Amino acid sequence: MSAETCQVKMYDGKPCGRPVLKDGDCVFHLRGERTEEEVQNFEGEFLTELRRMEEDPKIERLDFTKFVFPGEIDLHGHVFEKEVYFFQATFNKKADFSEARFDKTVSFAYAGFEEEPSFREVTFNGIAAFSAAKFENNTTFAEAAFERDVLFASTTFKKMVSFYDVRFKGEANFKSATFGIKAHFLGAKFENEADFSLARFEGEADFTETTFATEPFFIATTFARKPCFFGAKKAPM
Ligand SMILES: [Zn+2]
Repeated sequence: MSAETCQVKMYDGKPCGRPVLKDGDCVFHLRGERTEEEVQNFEGEFLTELRRMEEDPKIERLDFTKFVFPGEIDLHGHVFEKEVYFFQATFNKKADFSEARFDKTVSFAYAGFEEEPSFREVTFNGIAAFSAAKFENNTTFAEAAFERDVLFASTTFKKMVSFYDVRFKGEANFKSATFGIKAHFLGAKFENEADFSLARFEGEADFTETTFATEPFFIATTFARKPCFFGAKKAPM
């Protein structure tokens, strides 16, 4: 029996329910091949869906669980007032979240980023979860502000990641994270606990002028090269 609606399970375990485009999947969950035109149209369709969900007062959570973004997505400067779940989402091309604002919890847990996403100057007012997310390419969180706890537990950064001048006001959990070519924490400010236990730095680890409010945890952390803590300081804030 072929289902008329998409059966992909969303964050709450309920099926997506959107109309099927092909192969049993809706336009947002399509895992198979897309035509050039389908890729071209995707961003517009997503933005329309985002607006619809934002304007519907009955929808409390923007649930984009397992969405597949086949083309570039521009959410630069967007203000997300509701909770957002990009849980297990796949971004095949660039995703631009720079200068966006997330007012509530946001989850990119288990998401996959194939190209270079940007989280530059993003304000995270709620808890932010990037646990077990995979960044295949360079990425930046430069000048972002995490007002609450952030989870990068078991996150993989294959290439370069920049946390230049980032403010971590809540707990920053980098437990078991993997850093590839370069991890850049220049000028970052950890105003709460910073935990890098069991993390693996496979390339350069740069903590130049990083500020830690409390002694950071580097328990069983492995560094392929000597990390740089030049000018880093531990200071009460
Ligand atoms: Zn669907």
